Amino acid sequence: MKIIMLGAPGAGKGTQAKKIAEKYQIPHVSTGDIFRSNIKEGTQLGRKAKEYMDQGALVPDELTIGMLMDRIQQEDCKNGYVLDGFPRTIPQAESLQKAITEMGQKIDFAINVDVPDENIISRMSGRRACISCGATYHIVYNPSKVAGICDVCGSELVLRDDDKPETVKKRLAVYHDQTRPLIDYYKEAGVLVNVDGTQELNKVFSDITDILGA
Ligand SMILES: [Zn+2]
Repeated sequence: MKIIMLGAPGAGKGTQAKKIAEKYQIPHVSTGDIFRSNIKEGTQLGRKAKEYMDQGALVPDELTIGMLMDRIQQEDCKNGYVLDGFPRTIPQAESLQKAITEMGQKIDFAINVDVPDENIISRMSGRRACISCGATYHIVYNPSKVAGICDVCGSELVLRDDDKPETVKKRLAVYHDQTRPLIDYYKEAGVLVNVDGTQELNKVFSDITDILGA
């Protein structure tokens, strides 16, 4: 079972990807983890990627695809994998398609966790983080015992810059411009599945397992 997760930043696709990986016993493959492990192990691709990252530049797609192909050819990926965080653009999707076709593989499902922008903005604006210990809360879904105070250490809770509506809106604009076109790309490929990501997360997951099968 080879799966790609799609969805806006903040839609909860990472959480669903982890749950899928756990239930179906397949690796959760995220580009962040792949970068970290290649850099840590000092692979040739990892060293090249680090040069770009040290300069604050984007890692070129060929390098990312190279590391991704190495990862999905490992033994633990033989029954499938869940890709999270890649592809993010049409050219990346095309390169990925080419590379996995050469490996004799195909993507079985592209799962789009669909959440409207307004919903994401309001969810993110409810997040709170402790200024001292980094513990995170949500004013609706995971509140601290005393509003504005960390349960763990008693310090003040704040809305991080990353979670502020203006920052979230900027990320969503990039998503709509570059990543959302992937929905049509995978629809045309006949592998797109839409799930309503506004539901409670266990309901989102049961909708996904209904599609993937027990
Ligand atoms: Zn704290």
